Amino acid sequence: MPSVLVVEDDPAIRASLIEVLSEHGHAVRSVGDGFGALREITQAHVDAVVLDLGLPDLDGADALRMIRGLSRVPVIVATARDDEAEIVRLLEAGADDYLVKPLSGRQLAARLGAVLRRANGSLAPEAQGQVLHEAPMATAGALVVGGLRIDPSARTVHLDGRELQLTRREFDLLAFLAGHANQVVSKRRILAEVWRESYVDDQTIDVHLSALRRKLGEQGARPRYLWTVRGVGIKMVTPP
Ligand code: CA
Repeated sequence: MPSVLVVEDDPAIRASLIEVLSEHGHAVRSVGDGFGALREITQAHVDAVVLDLGLPDLDGADALRMIRGLSRVPVIVATARDDEAEIVRLLEAGADDYLVKPLSGRQLAARLGAVLRRANGSLAPEAQGQVLHEAPMATAGALVVGGLRIDPSARTVHLDGRELQLTRREFDLLAFLAGHANQVVSKRRILAEVWRESYVDDQTIDVHLSALRRKLGEQGARPRYLWTVRGVGIKMVTPP
C-alpha cells in the first residue's frame, strides 16, 4: 500500500484529504508544517507527498526545495493561485505535479496514482490512456498557441502533434512566452522570471531563442511563433 504524506495546516482540508486518499487505497500520514514534513521524509517511508504551499513555518517553494535536497520522493503541490509563472517556478523547483485549490479529491487521487506509476517506471501505454480518462483535467493547464501545445505539468511540448525534445531551460522559456502570447516581453523580464539569476545576460536568451527557433523549424529572419521586436523584446504570436 503506497504511503502518502499530506502536508497541510488546515485541519478540515487535512481531514478531507486523509479521507479521500484512504478511500483510494493509500496509507496516509499527515503533518501541519514544513519542518514536520522534512522530519517525516527523513524518518519514515514515504512514497509521495501532497504539499500545501501556504504553511505556517516555511514558504511553500522553500519547503519544496528542502524536500528536494533530501529526497526524490514525488511531490504534488497544492497552490491557491492559478498563476502560470508561479506554477512553472514550482515545477522548476522540483514539483512533479500541481493542483490548484480548492482541491478535488478525485483529481488528486488520479494525479497521485499517475506520479506513483511514473516513479515506479511502470506506466504502460494503456495505463496512460486510463489516467487521462480518469483525470481529464490533467491536461487542462496546457497552453495552446497555434499548433503548439505546452503542458507544464508533464513538461511536454508538441508542435503539430509531434513531440519536441527541449532542454529544461528551453522549455521554461517557451512556456513563459506562451503564457504571455501576443504580448511583447522584455528580455529583462525574461531574465527575472525564467532565469532568476543575476549573472545571466541578454546573449544567453538569444542563444536559447535560436535553439528554440531551430526546434520549431523557423528562422529569426522569418519567424512564425517567436518574433523579435527590436529594442523591446520577444513576442510569441499565433501564426496566421
Ligand atoms: Ca495552508
